[in-house]
This record gives sequence, structure tokens and C-alpha cells, in this order.
Amino acid sequence: MVVVLEKNIGDKLIEDIIKHLEDFGFAVHKSTGVEQIVLGAIGVKPDFDIRKVKVLDGVSEVYRITEPFKLASRSFKKEDTKIKLGNSCIGENEIIVFAGPCSVENEHQMFTIAEIVATAGAKILRGGAFKPRTSPYAFQGLGEEGLKLIRNAADANNLLVVTEILEATQIDLIGKYTDIYQVGARNMQNFPLLKELGKTNKPVMLKRGLSATIEEWLMSAEYILSNGNKDVMLCERGIRTFETYTRNTFDVSAIPVVHKKSHLPVIADPSHAVGLRDKVMPLALAAVAAGTDGLMIEVHHDPEKALSDGPQALLPNQFIELMKQVKLIAEVIGRKI
Ligand code: PEP
Ligand code: MN
Repeated sequence: MVVVLEKNIGDKLIEDIIKHLEDFGFAVHKSTGVEQIVLGAIGVKPDFDIRKVKVLDGVSEVYRITEPFKLASRSFKKEDTKIKLGNSCIGENEIIVFAGPCSVENEHQMFTIAEIVATAGAKILRGGAFKPRTSPYAFQGLGEEGLKLIRNAADANNLLVVTEILEATQIDLIGKYTDIYQVGARNMQNFPLLKELGKTNKPVMLKRGLSATIEEWLMSAEYILSNGNKDVMLCERGIRTFETYTRNTFDVSAIPVVHKKSHLPVIADPSHAVGLRDKVMPLALAAVAAGTDGLMIEVHHDPEKALSDGPQALLPNQFIELMKQVKLIAEVIGRKI
């Protein structure tokens, strides 16, 4: 249930309304917008008579939100969520580019790629140190050694870091090195992990599950938000369909749908969506045209030797060309990169 308060309402009245809602059994989250204060009342019972709230002094409007997600919804928070990180802000006019290899492999690889992507205009260095591989025999990542390498390569090139977390026990370790926790597609519904990330104060990038509906994805974001962490960004990385010519199917429509339903920023990952390097550029252009707030692109200087996802990694010159082209599309729709 969303409770919109009257404009210019005093603090005492706000407290009274919150107290009433709590007495009715709701958990209350307050959102202070530019124009109005909105209360999100969580835990609505199907038979609750919302007129009990409508009649309270200081309440302007009350409505149930039909979607099961509340804190992630536009009705709860009208303004776009903006996530400030260093000199960058995710969710503003600038489209932020995350780039780097699939996996952190060694020092030379990380420093080479970090310099290439930073020079071309990326702001955030990606790379997994803990890899969720389909096969237990495939490269699983360098662990803490990999975290140190990505941090050092990022610092040397004035970049921020995003890296994947697989389980809640890794929060402190990964938190020492990263600026953003990445929750991968395979963990989108790892609810204990999401709850624990909700108690941290670092932004979380939540990738869409392999076969997740947009509603399920937003419900997963709700786990993080309802545990206190408001800095969540959603990453569309393709979903599994009947199509076999591409690795996954890039759901470009998810970008405007999420923007309509939610205030959270959306990042598009065409690399994992399509899985083939020659098709990453057209999907990146489509994502920018559709309004994405960020792009995540895999890049490798020697993809044939990459320990994971080489076939979808752009070569350095392809990444430079991609940056040029996405800038042109961004300008057409009044945004910048
Ligand atoms: C990744 O970003 O390297 C990754 C494993 O992605 P996803 O979780 O989308 O498969
Ligand atoms: Mn990958």
C-alpha cells in the first residue's frame, strides 16, 4: 500500500501516521521526494480496509499497488534512483559503461584491458574472481588474488570495480575490493544472499535470472531494498528462449518496461545476451536507443586465450568503435556517454 501525504505536512503528523500504520501491522518505509512524502506500507493483508488510512489527518491519497513489489515500484518512488559512485552517477543523463574481461586471469591481462577500456571512456572495470561455471571442471576464478588484481588495475586507470559475489560468506572479502557487488543470473533468486546484501552499504547490480520474468526480477530487487540497501541497479543480460542461434535472447523490451514499473536504473549486457562478438555492437546500440542507463561489455585483448567467454569478448578496436557508435545514438536521444 502506498500512502501519499499532504504537501507541507508537519513532522508530528508524519510520526502519528507512521505510528498508526505500524499499529495496523505494517512495516513502514518513508520516501522524501522533491514535492511530497510517500510512505510505503509493507505487509498488506488482503482484507485490510484502506479507508482506515484514508481518514487519517495529513493523508492525501492511499492506494494499493497491484504489483507484489513495493519499494522497487514507481508508485512508491516517482523519481529515478541515482547511484553516486566516485565521479560517476548511475541513473542520470550519462550512460555509464562497464567493461572488462569475463574473468580476472592475471596481472598483465587486467592492466592491459583496464587501460584500453578506460582510454575508450568506460567508467567501471568488470571481471569475475569467483566464477559461477556450468561445469565444476571449468576455471572457477582466482579468488582473492583476482580481487586484488582487478582493484589495482582499476585504481591505476581511475576506474571503479564491479565483481561477482556467489554467496553471503563472501560479503566482507569482496567488499574490501569492489565498489559494486554483482549478483549473477544464476543467483538472482538466492534470497539469503540478497537479504545479506540488503544490509550492506555498497551498490548491488542484480542480473536478470536465466528464465526470470520481469516481476520475479523486481521481487528479487525487493529483497535487497527491504533489507535497507536502496542502491540497486538491474542488469538485463538476455533470457533463455527456444532460439539456438544466439546464446540467449536479448529482451530489449525489458528496458522500457522496467523504467515504467520501477525507479531503479537499468544496465544492459549485450555480451552475455547474444554470446557472439560480432552481434554485441548492434545490441548495444539498440539498448542505448531503448533508454538503458548503462552498458556492460566484455572486452579481451587476446580472446582466443581467454579462460571464459572468449567468443563474446570484443577486441580492443571493436570496443573503441562501439564507444564511438553508442555515443552517436546517445546524442540522438538527448543523453551522453
Ligand atoms: C558475468 O557477468 O560474467 C556473468 C557470469 O554473467 P551472468 O550472471 O549474466 O551469466
Ligand atoms: Mn562472462
